[in-house]
Amino acid sequence: MPLLRPGQLGPPARHPVYYLPKADLIIRLTASNVLYRLPSSYLCLDSACFESMLSIHPAEVLDGRTDDNPLDIPGITTEELECFLDYQLRHRLPRNNQEALTVILRLGHFFQYEAAQVDAAAALEQLPSFDAVSKYVLGLKMGIRRWVISAFTELVSPGARQLTREEVGLLELMPYHAIMETRASIEAHRRSIAYSIPPMSHAKGCPSDIDCGVAWKLEWKNKVAPHLMHPEEAVRGRAILDLLEKKDIHEVHAACRLGMVERMKASGVLTYEDQIVEQALRSLAPPA
Ligand SMILES: [Zn+2]
Repeated sequence: MPLLRPGQLGPPARHPVYYLPKADLIIRLTASNVLYRLPSSYLCLDSACFESMLSIHPAEVLDGRTDDNPLDIPGITTEELECFLDYQLRHRLPRNNQEALTVILRLGHFFQYEAAQVDAAAALEQLPSFDAVSKYVLGLKMGIRRWVISAFTELVSPGARQLTREEVGLLELMPYHAIMETRASIEAHRRSIAYSIPPMSHAKGCPSDIDCGVAWKLEWKNKVAPHLMHPEEAVRGRAILDLLEKKDIHEVHAACRLGMVERMKASGVLTYEDQIVEQALRSLAPPA
């Protein structure tokens, strides 16, 4: 009885649909030991990966011409390739299936099919179940910068909820660490400004330095600090600036209030949290 090579469970099976008798390229998925027979000209059409795989030494390459000598592809399951070929050869895009769309995106990336990646990404973005953690994880793996930026910004925004155990499980160590570290830096900064009330610098014409100054301090303590400190009332720093700019504060002279807003804008104290996020993103999603 002949010995089987490791991972090879007897003779390979032909895929019931995608072993196309008239096609010329035979592929074997090593994980499942299943054979596919596919039209190489079609596969090469839009895939830089297949093109380079099949065009380097065409005369010498015999792999992929017979069942006994297929082109081996590791790391892909039968279900995954079937889902991908349903899209690539039959134009079936499973719009409501996050798992299937993720497979098409991943294999599109692996085989370097631009259209598959674009279609799957656009369909995923439409799914309500496609949350920030999935977007962040997949964005990092597939090099989709806009996903990393928007999802990470959401995940570290003030008042963002705690990650669930399942979500933590999806994240690799570095991306997880980046979220936790950024959240901690932002929180520390916000706490420090919540407790140090910016001293009022009164404008010309302020009717009462004392009343205006006291009212400003009270406003900061009672309205601004909770936005900075309490997760359920959390508001981004630039939104706090907006509120202070647009809303009258009882007994605070308008010119004094607007002067303070200008000073805080110039100092960047309330927008520093955006810089913390930008800095983390520079290493997570560097510009191309
Ligand atoms: Zn004043």
